[in-house]
Amino acid sequence: MERYDIEKLRSLSCESVAQRLGITVQRHKALCPFHDDHTPSLTFKGSKFKCWSCGESGDSISFVMKVLGKDFLDACRWLADEHNVIVTSFKVQEVSGVQEKPFDASRYERFFERPFLNEEARKFLFEERRLDERVVRWCRLTSWRDRSGTPWLQIPYFNREGKLVGIQNRNLVRGATPRFRFTQGGGSISLYNQPVLNLLRPGEPLFITEGCSDCWAMLSAGHKAIAIPSATLLTQKDVELLETWNLKHETTFHMFPDRDAPGERLFLQLQKVLPSLVHHQLPPDCKDFSEYYLKNPSFGCL
Ligand SMILES: [Zn+2]
Repeated sequence: MERYDIEKLRSLSCESVAQRLGITVQRHKALCPFHDDHTPSLTFKGSKFKCWSCGESGDSISFVMKVLGKDFLDACRWLADEHNVIVTSFKVQEVSGVQEKPFDASRYERFFERPFLNEEARKFLFEERRLDERVVRWCRLTSWRDRSGTPWLQIPYFNREGKLVGIQNRNLVRGATPRFRFTQGGGSISLYNQPVLNLLRPGEPLFITEGCSDCWAMLSAGHKAIAIPSATLLTQKDVELLETWNLKHETTFHMFPDRDAPGERLFLQLQKVLPSLVHHQLPPDCKDFSEYYLKNPSFGCL
């Protein structure tokens, strides 16, 4: 793992990390998991935590290490996966011998002109996720195999003009870490599936999802959708794009927040700039929309 990535993980909001671990946080405080706590002694500030009773303290990485009993590297991997899409610079030279450079769309565009789905990708997309083939084609998902034989799904990010702006890679080996990697220079990645905005009719609902998997499920269920790459990585640029869109169009925004605190926080953050954002509640047995879609392939919430 690169130093850059570790710094990125270290700077994650420790409060969000605690919530992803299932710890209840109220007013930046929680019951300390490191001693027998009866009044919330653990406090969060930015990427740091501190217990005013037993004295445990540290950052997001050491928090995960201590709570889950993981070593440093495993804690980093857990954080990267749990937060969906932490940017990991992808070493192209590992597979192609090419020197690292900023993201150069012209080198990758051709991969998405004739997408190819290998056996693992087809299994993942059509059997496990039961996605609509038209959605997979629209998203121009393709697959490849690295030098060690690991199959990857390649997910292109296009801007509204249809220009390739970044690529996310998803490991197709079940349970493998890291689950996600960005192609180098893909750090400017923002809203996923922006070209769908060009198809929106006035007043038509637009769903905002967390992560591209939920976006594919939403599209497969027959709704127009875009995705925030991750609840914990909402950028100012994404917010501005949505705000500008909202002011110019009569779109109604909808969301099924993930059933956890970061999911709800993302909803509240977005609602500030999109006052009309409609909250849809997932049933208790579904933690995100992908799961809901698998159980109800043709949901009729609208
Ligand atoms: Zn404590």
